[in-house]
Amino acid sequence: MPNIHSSITELIGNTPLLELSKYSENRSLAGRIVAKVEYFNPAGSVKDRAAYAIIRQGELSEQLKPGGTIVDITSGNTGIALAALAARLGYTTKFYLSDNISPDKITLLEAYGAELVKIPNSEFTDPAFLPVFLERIQADNPDAFFANQLGNPANPQVHYETTGPEIWRDTDGEVAAIVGGVGTGGTISGTGRFLKEQNPDVFVAVAEPGPGSLPTPENPYPAEIDGVHKVSEVEAEFLPGNYDLAIADEVIALETQQARETARALAREEGLLIGTSSGAIVYAATQLAARPEFAGRIIVAVLPDTGERYLSAGTFG
Ligand code: PMP
Repeated sequence: MPNIHSSITELIGNTPLLELSKYSENRSLAGRIVAKVEYFNPAGSVKDRAAYAIIRQGELSEQLKPGGTIVDITSGNTGIALAALAARLGYTTKFYLSDNISPDKITLLEAYGAELVKIPNSEFTDPAFLPVFLERIQADNPDAFFANQLGNPANPQVHYETTGPEIWRDTDGEVAAIVGGVGTGGTISGTGRFLKEQNPDVFVAVAEPGPGSLPTPENPYPAEIDGVHKVSEVEAEFLPGNYDLAIADEVIALETQQARETARALAREEGLLIGTSSGAIVYAATQLAARPEFAGRIIVAVLPDTGERYLSAGTFG
């Protein structure tokens, strides 16, 4: 039987687990850090899962009509995932983004045919501008489908249905901890909920970048570490709706420099090129792996994307 896929949608998920054996050996870590390498998704990040789930939800609810337009305020991995899937499924995409985002990501969005509307960063981060901005998007695109990754329940749900079960299956139920970051909160909330239902002792840790990464409703993705931000000491109303406040057993703080150094170490020691938020997540996993209670046990670090997306961001020097 030939094993040939006919759409990139069939290539989403079932990403591999890779034990960071050399990295752990070099640091004499007690625990076993196992990376779930999400850059194996077809558009290159964990966001393919949520993007496809959001599109399917739009189709089912008929908010997204055949040939319709998908609109969002993302400029990162969600936009890239939506643009790639939309190309294959016959939709168009239009993203509103701040004019200070990385040229790498703009090039990727344009490669998949997305229409981009750049908003001056001063307006983007001005709380008073948000209602005006949302009204303008609505008025400019009356028939468009809003992906709404921050609040759309299809986002955590797809991690509950796929990422969590894959980790449970591929570790043969031996996962002791998972570590992730929080952008929308979809990954950690959905995956964590599934795994805790299988075994309430599964420990859930969140990697939290430093003080420059306080999210606000107007700027849910502060740029300090692309894709993830602070969750502790942040008022609940400022956190994205898709982050389950009860899911984390521990929040592990770190500096951007530590995330970058960890990403570099993985490139040099494992030959694994991962993004800056992935570096932050492995840094946090390393803290767990150094503890005696995790000796010999499996700590799964869910790594969102590839380092190739950050070559001009300075992560690798
Ligand atoms: N890292 C990167 C690079 C991301 O793009 C995202 C999502 N924007 C995350 C981490 C966080 O994932 P989630 O939105 O599921 O919390």
